[in-house]
Amino acid sequence: MEIYQTNQLRIYNSLSKSKEDFTPIVPGKVGMYVCGPTVYSNVHLGNVRTFLSFDLIYRYLKHLGYKVRYVRNITDAGHLENDADEGEDRIAKKARLEEIEPMEVVQRYTVDFHQVLQRMNFLPPSIEPTATGHIVEQVEIVKAIIAKGLAYVVNGSVYFDVIKYNKEEAYGELSGRDIEAAVHQTRSLDGQSEKKNPQDFALWKKADDRHIMRWPSPWSDGFPGWHLECTAMSTKYLGETFDIHGGGMDLKFPHHECEIAQSKAYKGVEPVRYWMHANMLILNGQKMAKSTGNYILPNELFSGENQLLGRGFSPSTVRFFILQAHYRSVLDFTGPGLEASEKGYVKLMEAFSKIDSIASGDKDTLDIKRWKQQCYAAMNDDFNSPVLIAQLFEAVKYINLLLDQQATLTAATLADFTSTLTVFVLDVLGLQDERKDKRSDTLSGVVDILIDLRNEARDNKDWALSDKIRDQLATLGVQLKDGKEGTTFSLQ
Ligand code: AMP
Ligand code: ZN
Repeated sequence: MEIYQTNQLRIYNSLSKSKEDFTPIVPGKVGMYVCGPTVYSNVHLGNVRTFLSFDLIYRYLKHLGYKVRYVRNITDAGHLENDADEGEDRIAKKARLEEIEPMEVVQRYTVDFHQVLQRMNFLPPSIEPTATGHIVEQVEIVKAIIAKGLAYVVNGSVYFDVIKYNKEEAYGELSGRDIEAAVHQTRSLDGQSEKKNPQDFALWKKADDRHIMRWPSPWSDGFPGWHLECTAMSTKYLGETFDIHGGGMDLKFPHHECEIAQSKAYKGVEPVRYWMHANMLILNGQKMAKSTGNYILPNELFSGENQLLGRGFSPSTVRFFILQAHYRSVLDFTGPGLEASEKGYVKLMEAFSKIDSIASGDKDTLDIKRWKQQCYAAMNDDFNSPVLIAQLFEAVKYINLLLDQQATLTAATLADFTSTLTVFVLDVLGLQDERKDKRSDTLSGVVDILIDLRNEARDNKDWALSDKIRDQLATLGVQLKDGKEGTTFSLQ
């Protein structure tokens, strides 16, 4: 029996704007697609927040016993400046500015993305497809939409006919935009655009002479529209209708709205059962964004090299800070907020590390069954990580009571308490016990101080003190070695 069979998960669906019972299309299996990064610059902490929300969701779905296929793409072509249909490709622009190949840009920032996520203990997705690896699939979808009469070709570019689509379907259902009103307000085009209506969007763009990222197609040498890649990759790996589609709130419009329209035009079915959107990370009262310069990089947080911070913070502290807010709430980034999270994280991990030294008793004086139910209830309620974390602090109180022998648990209950806490701290929240590294840093620091004191003693010809320091360290298994470069130590 899998855990999901006794736990009804509820998910807030951005499409219905309500919490719904989660029932996967195929019992026991979940298909989840999350829009990945556009790899033209380093991921900032805002991007990381969205990806972390889905890492948490992936981890919990797996813990419940679902077999999850998690697809998160890499956008390596087609995403133009300002998310619009005109303007330069973000990756090509970076390549031009840096005088390197677009694929060097892609490689550099894909590696950065992976390194950041690995440091923060993310689970890799099951499939990480790229837009440029799926041009053939995208061309096929454009052909099919043209054949259905819902797209038109102008000067080698292909546009989706939103007005025609909206006659049969509801364009704007996800973002709540009233397309009729928008059409009335902006009926006339400025004459510059090839589109019939400003609401139409590009499925394929003809590349001008400067545009180096280009592929052949029946309409022109060009490149696919940004929205199209996600339709191609999600349906290829997860089927024409799949369970969960995620991304940041800012992708609802136009990106996800266009994905829905393309998929419905292509296959005639609703592509996604549950649309999930993570809320924004805010810095200085504004959305964290690369384009405005209002951002902080994860590596700056780890090293402390940012004017907002006096020092560095560990990857798990940053993870804990983000997970202390529910994924659908706005999260404000501040230095004091991060410091408070660090205290909480250290307190939690210290208590967690002592759980093995608790001795069992002959009766239960704490209600562990109820506590466990509340942990699950928090996560079953649309992945409510802050409520889960409050329960974990309840567990910290229990651990201290048990260590002080003010409470007792039988061996069986203690085992259940230990394994449940381990599951939620390590597997679901993905926190790591970083204190081991910290302990070795502390040890090196202390030994370095003793080496300095010994050197001073030797300078003063105080051989008795210098030998005492060396011998007593040796009895603790710390071997000092004097060499040309100074004194080093090794642990026996
Ligand atoms: P991009 O690389 O721009 O396509 O963005 C990658 C992901 O980060 C998308 O899901 C965005 O919605 C998300 N994102 C961008 N800025 C923020 C922010 N300030 N807070 C949270 N998520 C963000
Ligand atoms: Zn996408």
